[in-house]
Amino acid sequence: MSRVFFLGSGASAAAGAPLIGDFMPAAAARALERSRTRSRPITENRLYAFLNLAFGVGEAQFRAMALREAGPQKKVSGSAPADPDFMFVLGALDVAISEGTSFGQSIVRKASRGGPTKGYDLSGNELARVRQELLSSVVAAFGRGPATSSLYANFVAALQPTDKLITTNWDTLLDFAIQSLNRDVDYGARPMTYVDAAEKPDNAEAPVLPLHKLHGSLNWLFCPRCSLVYANRRQNTAPIRGKRPYYVRCHVCAPKKDSSLQAELEAVLVSPTLLKTYRIAQLKQVWINAQSALALADEWVFVGYSLPIDDMWVVAMLLRAAATQRSFKQCPKITVVDRSGEPVRSRYARLLGWPVLDGGSDFAEYVQRMSRDLYNYPREWNES
Ligand SMILES: [Zn+2]
Repeated sequence: MSRVFFLGSGASAAAGAPLIGDFMPAAAARALERSRTRSRPITENRLYAFLNLAFGVGEAQFRAMALREAGPQKKVSGSAPADPDFMFVLGALDVAISEGTSFGQSIVRKASRGGPTKGYDLSGNELARVRQELLSSVVAAFGRGPATSSLYANFVAALQPTDKLITTNWDTLLDFAIQSLNRDVDYGARPMTYVDAAEKPDNAEAPVLPLHKLHGSLNWLFCPRCSLVYANRRQNTAPIRGKRPYYVRCHVCAPKKDSSLQAELEAVLVSPTLLKTYRIAQLKQVWINAQSALALADEWVFVGYSLPIDDMWVVAMLLRAAATQRSFKQCPKITVVDRSGEPVRSRYARLLGWPVLDGGSDFAEYVQRMSRDLYNYPREWNES
């Protein structure tokens, strides 16, 4: 018997990961801090320039957004304009970068020493830098880790040896929980080099648990020159060089000691709205492996994944895996664990055309039942 667990944002929220609503405040706070340390006005920051031009965010709103970083206790007055939606910001950047379109010249100016000041041309590489700045704030919001989650630790402890995991989440709470239980995460993407905090190859011969991260991960970095993906299973962003994850460089396709010749690494965090997976071959592999795990499994368990309408890539993958199961005259046992309960379960039933079991609304309770079941399984499980 083999099971596949598909974990969405609801699972990580239950495990204590920051919510998506925390990302824009984190980005604004970081941008303000960088301007302060460089003694430059915030209007010279390119993330601010982009939000100002594309989303109409002014200086006061930007500062108010940064104040929300510390959480609801610091909430500013109710009349303040709402923060732009993080996924809209990332999606707008991704579409413009992939289509080669431009937002034009920014209204705010950047300083140019000894010459006239000019705006940012918000196209191409400048947009890529805005994107990098935004995503490095996300990494900062999650912290370098290893953050722990007792819910995920209990979940991993209750898994069977043949279980496989798929997730749309970027956070590494689950990855670190697996490592803390002396099992090695296998992301199943090649070429990928695993590095620990000291940038040494990680050759621990621990039992491996497949974890397919469909939208990338906070602890992966991609070299756009040699196409290598670096992964660090103990810390977010890999490898860590200096203090700024934003400027990490590839030491495989250039001399290790000369950072001036090394290519800048990119975060591997893909927005679900525009899945640019196929630019990074390793992500394509992740999707192939995830689909094959689903196609071969006897049981599918969805946790905190509500089948959002903008995730057509996931829907299409589920349908391909379902078609494979049907052509072998199989039908996986399907369970949905979701806070929304019946409405989400019926979405799954309508999509897949199979019966869907109620796994309850509380992930923690479901994990408790999993742990109890662990002892009721046939003896072969406990002996392996
Ligand atoms: Zn490289």
